[in-house]
Order: sequence, then structure tokens, then C-alpha cells
Amino acid sequence: MAPHGQTEGAGWISRGDRPPRCFSPHVSPATSHCEPLKWTLPDRWAPEGRVLEWTCGCDGVFYELRQASGLQFIRRIRRDEHGVEVIEDSERWRAGVAAAQWNALLMGHLR
Ligand SMILES: [Zn+2]
Repeated sequence: MAPHGQTEGAGWISRGDRPPRCFSPHVSPATSHCEPLKWTLPDRWAPEGRVLEWTCGCDGVFYELRQASGLQFIRRIRRDEHGVEVIEDSERWRAGVAAAQWNALLMGHLR
């Protein structure tokens, strides 16, 4: 995993076409008691909602906390071994539960 340095951050900024993700939070490495989240491919009819929070993606995977129809969920965006973008969603929770899940993810207790 590449360290997050100034040069990388500057690279994101100079691109100018995307947010400077390295200013976004990074998910902590999974802890030894990390719980697996259930990730499923998004239902194409399900509302995608709007992004509330997001993490840095400089290690090849990033997460978004999204809100749709009064419920929130976490979206994981990564690239598979062929470089194809894979988007998967968690189950949907009410806001308070989702906030706790998001924090647990950031701290490495969920993955
Ligand atoms: Zn980063």
C-alpha cells in the first residue's frame, strides 16, 4: 500500500477534475475483530441517493455513505484484478445506525 504523502495529494489536486480525495478520511486497516459487512451489487432500480461522506481512494478502494429515501447505506467502489470498477452496496439502515456503521468502517471494525 502506498503511503499517503504530499506528492500524492498534490497529484489529485493538479488533476483538477476530481475532488482532492487525500483530504478525505482514510479507512483504518481492518482490526483482528473486524466484522464483515454484506456487500451486494446495487439493485438497478434502487435509488442511488446522494453522497453524504466519502473516504480517500488512494489505495484502490473507497467508500461512500449515501442517503436515499430516508435510509442510508455504504457503497464500496473498487477495481477488480482486471481493472474493472466494481460497485457494491451494504444493506440500508436508518440514519443513526448508518452513522455507527460508517464510523466502525473508518475505524477498521467493519469491512
Ligand atoms: Zn489517501
